[in-house]
Amino acid sequence: MTARLNVVPFVSVESMMKLVNAVGVERFLVDLAGYIEADFRRWESFDKTPRVASHSAEGVIELMPTSDGEVYGFKYVNGHPKNTREGRQTVTAFGVLADVATGYPVLLTEMTILTALRTAAMSAVAGRYLAPEGARTMAIVGNGAQSEFQALAFKAVLGVDRLRLYDIDRQASQRCARNLAGYGFDITVCGSVADAVQGAEIVTTVTADKQNATILTDNLVGAGIFINGVGGDCPGKTELHRDILLRSGIFVEYTPQTRIEGEIQQLAPDHPVTELWEVIAGRKPGRSSATQITLFDSVGFAIEDFSALRYVRDLLATQPYCEELDLLADPDEPRDLFGMLLRAQAAQAA
Ligand code: NAD
Repeated sequence: MTARLNVVPFVSVESMMKLVNAVGVERFLVDLAGYIEADFRRWESFDKTPRVASHSAEGVIELMPTSDGEVYGFKYVNGHPKNTREGRQTVTAFGVLADVATGYPVLLTEMTILTALRTAAMSAVAGRYLAPEGARTMAIVGNGAQSEFQALAFKAVLGVDRLRLYDIDRQASQRCARNLAGYGFDITVCGSVADAVQGAEIVTTVTADKQNATILTDNLVGAGIFINGVGGDCPGKTELHRDILLRSGIFVEYTPQTRIEGEIQQLAPDHPVTELWEVIAGRKPGRSSATQITLFDSVGFAIEDFSALRYVRDLLATQPYCEELDLLADPDEPRDLFGMLLRAQAAQAA
């Protein structure tokens, strides 16, 4: 990273792609999972708040801040399920890390790709504690932008190598299968959710629809599976039938946020859930038996983004993939901000 004080390293989308490809996507996911686990172990040292969401008829724009007392981070992220019809992403994001001691930003980066990577790494971390022993087959329902990342994280972290894909748009499943062709999976494109979950030990739901959808019905969920519910992440936007929740051991990121946004918005506000950090820190058990249905009610929490930002900042110590952004005013005398403007005016006029 640059030593110059008045410039901020900036990772563009192009640089992020170079960074991920230089590291290798599976290595990147494994290392990122390690950063997330390390930060979840020190969960209590973070400032935590449910994200600040601004809802509209078509979607949501959210700010996700946190700090460990030394470094501050936030992510700007949107969720607009109808965007893909106009050729836009459902989810786009960027984020900032800053030095708490000075308040100066130390990194600005795209986070659309990074969010897909961190969401998948987070899911795989949850899978490490909640999936059945030796699970190798995963159904993925919803084969959009997040789907390949989910598949690769479960492969790299847990050894999943059989995929059963389903999407209401078959072309989405076919594209996902094509994109993953070189990664050593045995892939089946399925004609229904019921077909996709056949024989799957892990079911990832990652659809986008701005409503209380029922992607999985209770009769499709057999004993002992791990459900990685990723797409239900907003008030009024869920994927699982309520009866599934009543049969499952439910694991969440940050309870106050998940009560608002997760599948558990369908349950009583005191329905018991376990925060995943407690499992990772060894304070609470994860999966309790081979027959338990475990659910990771993923909504995405600020600490995961913090981990991702921290990982990228550390990578930049050895990788050249960033630009220097002139983001900080830096007058010779700190209080002479206006003088700096005057000197610039004179130089412009000359
Ligand atoms: P996307 O729009 O690229 O893909 C969504 C896919 O779901 C599409 O291919 C669509 O055809 C399919 N789909 C919609 N309804 C379906 C149904 N009933 N059955 C099967 N398939 C269906 O979106 P994306 O970027 O892949 O994101 C997917 C979801 O994950 C979104 O809801 C997003 O908000 C959420 N998300 C969650 C997190 C998290 O941390 N939990 C992070 C990122 C994204």
